[in-house]
Amino acid sequence: MDTTIKYPFHDLGAVNAPHLHRVQEAAARVVASGYYVGGPEVARFEHDLAALTGTRHAVGVSNGLDALRLILRAYIERGDMRPGDEVIVPANTYIATILAITDNGLKPVPVEPDCRTLNLDTSLIERAVTDRTRAIMTVHLYGRICYDAEMSRAAARHGLKIIEDNAQAIGASTAGGRHSGALGDVAAFSFYPTKNLGAMGDGGAVTTDDAELAAIIRALANYGSDRRYHNIYRGLNCRLDPIQAAILSAKMPYLADENTARAANALIYETHIDNPLVTKPLFSDGGDMVWHQYVVQTADRDRFRSFLAEKGVETGVHYPVAPHRQPCMRDYASLNLPIAEHIAATCVSLPVSSGTSADDAREIARIINSYTTPE
Ligand SMILES: *Cc1c(COP(=O)(O)O)cnc(C)c1O
Repeated sequence: MDTTIKYPFHDLGAVNAPHLHRVQEAAARVVASGYYVGGPEVARFEHDLAALTGTRHAVGVSNGLDALRLILRAYIERGDMRPGDEVIVPANTYIATILAITDNGLKPVPVEPDCRTLNLDTSLIERAVTDRTRAIMTVHLYGRICYDAEMSRAAARHGLKIIEDNAQAIGASTAGGRHSGALGDVAAFSFYPTKNLGAMGDGGAVTTDDAELAAIIRALANYGSDRRYHNIYRGLNCRLDPIQAAILSAKMPYLADENTARAANALIYETHIDNPLVTKPLFSDGGDMVWHQYVVQTADRDRFRSFLAEKGVETGVHYPVAPHRQPCMRDYASLNLPIAEHIAATCVSLPVSSGTSADDAREIARIINSYTTPE
């Protein structure tokens, strides 16, 4: 069997190749500056991110999980939440969303996704609310904005914070022109190398219009210190490295190009994939979907992936196990979440980033169309 990869799932070298000189220049500038923690590059990136998102504040942090953890911790420090309070979260999210909640002694309340959008089914929020619910952690999964009037009404009615996990949807915007990361009360970003805006290592950020919350998060991420050797919280060390900040500032002007390339590949799949064994994702040619992943569903996932691998097409699975089925979540294993489990059992991610050319995407679609049931 020839298993040479002809169509890599996500060729980060190819994605970053057009930016290599910019990235090297940015990294060299940091090395020469003498600022290796904090300093002007981090401040500049925070300014750039706030401008991109349309929020008053941005705080660079170490990674996406820490961004989510710090947001919840800040709400606890301010007295908006107490350990034991509940946070509504989509049942099919990446586990980091859940870990941020449990790490703070809060209780995740997984709610089923909509089987068309694969995002939190906002019509189920109302039923999931109890007197301990304090927040909805909405996840713009696969790059698709999950925020609507139903969510904001439920939040307003019950006094809930809306926290966006925007790790997968940087650059997305609603029909009304509002950006992901500026829709709720506060948002977390990840710049893990495979995200639509990827660092060359770990990175993350928080955006918000809430100045007080931003200040608490900034202090918490720096030993709980509001000024030097003065610790108002029992904080952490969760800072964004200036070398990553400089790289991200250098790449940010080209985020729109990356998202455009992804949308072009998604459109090719939408028009060319025509196979009754393969369910395509709900299509959107609007800005509300930045195609972090292009996720199809198929009954016999392993056979489908092996078939593609034999033809040189590398695929991914996001995610093979729903969080409540993970060993670390044993106490949630009895939850009945059939839609989340069905997605986990059937989802396959196709190559969609700018590392995949339009010709490659057409060829991948052709290969998918040749996939049949066993004799
Ligand atoms: C990547 C990701 C995270 C975590 O971000 P890291 O920077 O890897 O810690 C959280 N939530 C979602 C939905 C993600 O995709």
